[in-house]
Amino acid sequence: MQTNFASTLLTDPDFAESEKVVRTCVHCGFCLATCPTYVLLGDELDSPRGRIYLMKDMLENDRPADPETVKHIDRCLSCLSCMTTCPSGVNYMRLVDHARHHIENTYKRPWPERQMRRLLGAVLPLPVVFRALLSAGRLGKHVAWGLPGRLRVLLDIAPPSVPAASPVDKPQIFPAKHKRVARVALMKGCAQQVVMPQINEATIRLLTRHGCEVVVAKGSGCCGALTHHLGQDGSRFAKANIDAWTREMQQSGLDAVIINASGCGTTVKDYGFTFRADPSYAEKARAVASITRDITEWMTEIGLKPPVIETGQLVAYHSACSLQHGQRVVREPKELLAAAGFEVTDIPEAHICCGSAGTYNLLQPAIAAQLRDRKVTNIEGTRPDIIAAGNIGCIMQIATGTKLPVVHTVELLDWATGGSKPDRLDELPAGRRLA
Ligand code: SF4
Ligand code: SF4
Repeated sequence: MQTNFASTLLTDPDFAESEKVVRTCVHCGFCLATCPTYVLLGDELDSPRGRIYLMKDMLENDRPADPETVKHIDRCLSCLSCMTTCPSGVNYMRLVDHARHHIENTYKRPWPERQMRRLLGAVLPLPVVFRALLSAGRLGKHVAWGLPGRLRVLLDIAPPSVPAASPVDKPQIFPAKHKRVARVALMKGCAQQVVMPQINEATIRLLTRHGCEVVVAKGSGCCGALTHHLGQDGSRFAKANIDAWTREMQQSGLDAVIINASGCGTTVKDYGFTFRADPSYAEKARAVASITRDITEWMTEIGLKPPVIETGQLVAYHSACSLQHGQRVVREPKELLAAAGFEVTDIPEAHICCGSAGTYNLLQPAIAAQLRDRKVTNIEGTRPDIIAAGNIGCIMQIATGTKLPVVHTVELLDWATGGSKPDRLDELPAGRRLA
C-alpha cells in the first residue's frame, strides 16, 4: 500500500514502524474470511484491510482520531488471526497497538466509557485491588449496584466465590524434586492468580516434578498487556518484570521465564520490541524475551513424564488466539495432552476467537457474546468430556456459556503426572472413556 507520511513524522520510531507495516499490505483481502468481526458483521471497515486503511489515514496525517475510526478499531479483538492468514507478512499487531495509543492520546471518549477504561486499567493489574473489588461485589449487591454496568459483567464472569490468595504467589523459590535440570522463573501474573490461583499451583507442581527449580521473583507481576491493549501505558509493569528477572539472571542464572497465560506470553516475548528505543532497558528486555516460553513449549523442550493415572477422557483443546496467532504455538499443547493419555479433539473454526480478548468481553459485550456462543456450539458439537485452554481469559469466557468443565491445559498435565485432580472435574462421570 502506498503511504505518504511526512518525513518529520518518520523520525518517531512508532510512526516509522507503522509506515513499514502499512507498506507491506497489498490489499489482497485474504485476511477478511478469517477475521471474526468481519465474519460476524460483514462490514469492510470491521475487517483487517478496512482497519488498515482507517489507521493509515489517521496516522499518516497525524490527525486526532474520529468517532468512526475509534468504533472500528475498538471492535478489533487484537486476536491476530489476520497475521496468521496474511501472505505478505503484515504485522497488524504493531499497527493496531500504535493506533490504540494514538486514539488514547487524541480522542476524548464519553465520560462513562473513559471512567470504565481507567478503572479497568487501574484494577485488573493489581491482584490485591482486584480481589477486594470482586469480594466486595460478592458480599453485597448494593456494592455491585454502584458499579458501572460493564464492570458488573466482570462479576458475572468471575467465579461464584473469590478464592483466597495462594501462598505460591509470594516471592520464593520452589526446589526441584529429584535431580535439578533447570532453573526457571514463573510469571505469576495478575488477574489469573485472583480468579484461578490453582493454575500457578499446578504449574509449580508440574515444573518441580520435572526437575525445575522455580523462582517467583520479587517485584514481578502483571506483564502490562491489559493496560497496553487499552491504549494505556503499561511500561511500568513490564519494567518491574524485566528488573526482577534480570536480577535473577545475574545472581543465580535463569534458563527460562515461564508463562501460563498466553495473552501475557505474547506481550513478554515482545518486550525487546517494546523497549527498542529505551537505552536503559533495550538489552535487558531482549534478554528476557529471548528466554520466555509458554509452559507447553517448555514442557515439550524438557519432556513430559508418562502419566501415572488412567486418563483417556476426550479433551476439546481450545487454542487461545494469543497462543496460536500471537506466538504460533499450536502443536505442543495437543501433543502434550495426548502424551498424558487424553484423547484430543480438534474444534471446528479453531482459528476464530472466543470473544474474551483481554478486556474485550467487558468493552464489547454484544460481539463477545456472539463469538462465545459460536465457540461453545463448535466445542459442544465434538461431545468432549473436558475443555482445555492455555489462557485464563478464554477459560472464563467459555465457562460462562457451557456446563462442561473448562480447565487450564497445565492442570490436566499436572493431574496426569501425579498432581491433584482439578476441582471442576469432580462431576466427570467416573471411568468414562477410561482406557
Ligand atoms: S491478507 Fe495481508 S496483504 Fe492482504 S489485505 Fe489482508 S493484511 Fe493486506
Ligand atoms: S486482529 Fe482479529 S479482529 Fe482485529 S482485524 Fe485482525 S483478525 Fe480481525
